[in-house]
Amino acid sequence: MTSNTAAHVVVVGAGVTGLLTAVACARAGHRVTVLERGPVPNPDATSYDQYRTFRALLPGDPGGTADRLAALRHWQELETVFGAALYRRIGTVTAWPEHRLAGIVAEARRAGVAVQRLTAGQLPRLGLPPGTGAVLERPSGVLLADRVLRAAARWLAMRPGVALRPYCRVTAVLPDSGRIVLAGGEVVRGNAALLCAGPWTRELTDHQVTLYRQTILYLRTPAPDAEWWQDAPAAGGLGREGRGWVVPPGAGALLKLSSDTVCRPAEHTDSTGEDQQPYVDRLVDEGVLLGQGRYPPAAVRVCHYTADAATGGPLLDRVTPGLWVRAACGGSGFSTAPLVAERIATAVKEAA
Ligand SMILES: Cc1cc2nc3c(=O)[nH]c(=O)nc-3n(C[C@H](O)[C@H](O)[C@H](O)COP(=O)(O)OP(=O)(O)OC[C@H]3O[C@@H](n4cnc5c(N)ncnc54)[C@H](O)[C@@H]3O)c2cc1C
Repeated sequence: MTSNTAAHVVVVGAGVTGLLTAVACARAGHRVTVLERGPVPNPDATSYDQYRTFRALLPGDPGGTADRLAALRHWQELETVFGAALYRRIGTVTAWPEHRLAGIVAEARRAGVAVQRLTAGQLPRLGLPPGTGAVLERPSGVLLADRVLRAAARWLAMRPGVALRPYCRVTAVLPDSGRIVLAGGEVVRGNAALLCAGPWTRELTDHQVTLYRQTILYLRTPAPDAEWWQDAPAAGGLGREGRGWVVPPGAGALLKLSSDTVCRPAEHTDSTGEDQQPYVDRLVDEGVLLGQGRYPPAAVRVCHYTADAATGGPLLDRVTPGLWVRAACGGSGFSTAPLVAERIATAVKEAA
């Protein structure tokens, strides 16, 4: 790309969406400015955690599965670009009603996702709901989320044409003029902009997005079980209601337990006044882990994310030719960030 066709891309928010979009645009030869209200990366960002799970197979959605496989190729490429290990291919197991298993396996094979059926007996620590069996997806696994953010920030900091601007809080994004206003009054303007401020995105846009709050429990693994967990996959569809998730310990991280049952709409991102114990009790009671009483709790974390109010899923909207808004949602917002980055870098190139 010549300097004549290079654009200036402004990114609001240095979570995974913002940082990977900045990387994609910088690699395409554009000038990039990243505005972040805290440090870069910011431990308060939704993206900042030890792990985020990556699932390749979306049963019933072949297009979605193809997108996930494309995202996986991006993650592999990013490992090379950053020179850092970002992904642990530990596999993901999900529980499904017995009558659906054969269909899911056939669908996975058509999509080119290597899978294997497992029985409850082969997963002795996991609470599969009654009447279910499990499908292990081999290419799936976990992204080392905080390492991703640090590696991207390091790469960007060394790149000419990239301005990482920590402690720059954006107070307004004006779609008509393309102006981005910072606390203190400075105005930043580029040829293109992406608003991806995570749970705080809704403070800067009129888009109808819902804020959700989630309570997560981190556990220590008892010594006799350590060997089993060493090779364990991430697992979902667990517990009596089939809505629990477990991410095994590894790479210095604790075992992580979560469930959709304790995800709730929230008014704001300040959870300091909220008692987490009822949510922790609910998580423990669901039977996601067998023999849960032997796993000492290590930490409780509260996180927020936003989703499209109409669909409950992710939102990526091109508000004007030069302004995108992203609400990345829970479940897939981290793992699909390279697809958003690619889409925006491509659109900026087409417009240049
Ligand atoms: C409990 C939980 C579990 C999840 N599990 C998974 C999973 O397993 N797999 C998966 O793929 N996804 C998962 N997700 C979703 C995923 O983590 C998020 O969708 C994704 O990390 C959002 O990234 P983001 O960059 O859009 O936002 P964020 O990471 O929240 O980043 C937004 C950034 O914008 C900054 N900011 C905010 N306001 C301003 C402002 N006014 N000015 C400047 N900067 C600002 C913030 O400080 C922050 O750094 C999960 C989410 C939660 C909450």
